[in-house]
Amino acid sequence: MSERSGFSMRPPPPRKRLGQHFLHDTRALDAIVDALGPLDGRTVVEIGPGRGALTERLAARAGRVVAIELDRDLAARLRAQYADRPHVTIVEADVLDVSLGELANGPYLLAGNVPYYITTPILFHALAHPRPEIAVYLVQREVAERMAAPPGSKVYGALSVNLQAFLDVTFVRDVGPRSFTPPPAVDSAIVKVRPRAVPAIDAAHEAAFRTFVIGAFGLRRKQMVRVVRTLRGLPPEAADAVLRRCDIDPMARPETLDAEAFARLVRALAEGVA
Ligand code: SAM
Repeated sequence: MSERSGFSMRPPPPRKRLGQHFLHDTRALDAIVDALGPLDGRTVVEIGPGRGALTERLAARAGRVVAIELDRDLAARLRAQYADRPHVTIVEADVLDVSLGELANGPYLLAGNVPYYITTPILFHALAHPRPEIAVYLVQREVAERMAAPPGSKVYGALSVNLQAFLDVTFVRDVGPRSFTPPPAVDSAIVKVRPRAVPAIDAAHEAAFRTFVIGAFGLRRKQMVRVVRTLRGLPPEAADAVLRRCDIDPMARPETLDAEAFARLVRALAEGVA
């Protein structure tokens, strides 16, 4: 790399505000790439390439890499580094402001050691259509647990239901704080997600599903009959009837319902079956 390109210059110090914890553990980096599956000829969108440790591995194997970095200095450094490799595009932007599907312009995989301050918005952003065929994220361990949690477990919540309705979530491996520079205060984990063959809810009801699930877990200590009454303003008999028709115990609490049960209820409420 030439001095002129700027890449050989020392990288700027990590910016805490942008969640910059750079992964240097080669086994963790390889685990992210391996979890994506074969990359030959594939397009990979990377969220937050930072100093480019993961980008370099992806660039070596994939047909095309589109890496989205908000930090102007890091984006400039990466652009210089990949100036002579046209299959790598560096986009300087906030990942939440760009369409991943439009950048990919065809089927794509998604990877990222994501900035932890916006993990949940990123997970929801990646649910927009067209979805990645596989996404592999390095996230806070606690978030990985919530993503994969089964109904009834302590950490099961709105994030679990909203992801599990559309995605199969697989835990890949733990990553400790010392795998990063600088080390974060929390443990991390790699998770892999892929779209379910048949999502729990159809595209037309997705927005209503998301809003209802978030509202229901805002009332997680309440019974479902109260949840439906509160969120939909229904009289008690009507709330009770719609729940029974959906095969949901009116006395159950939101944290015991799986994504399918929420989907039946949201569809029934949309159809006015009360
Ligand atoms: N992928 C690199 C690695 O593994 O070493 C860096 C990961 S670091 C945890 C997160 C990266 O996301 C940083 O480079 C940070 O500047 C970038 N970032 C933070 N907020 C962002 C945003 N809203 N959009 C795009 N990138 C962002």
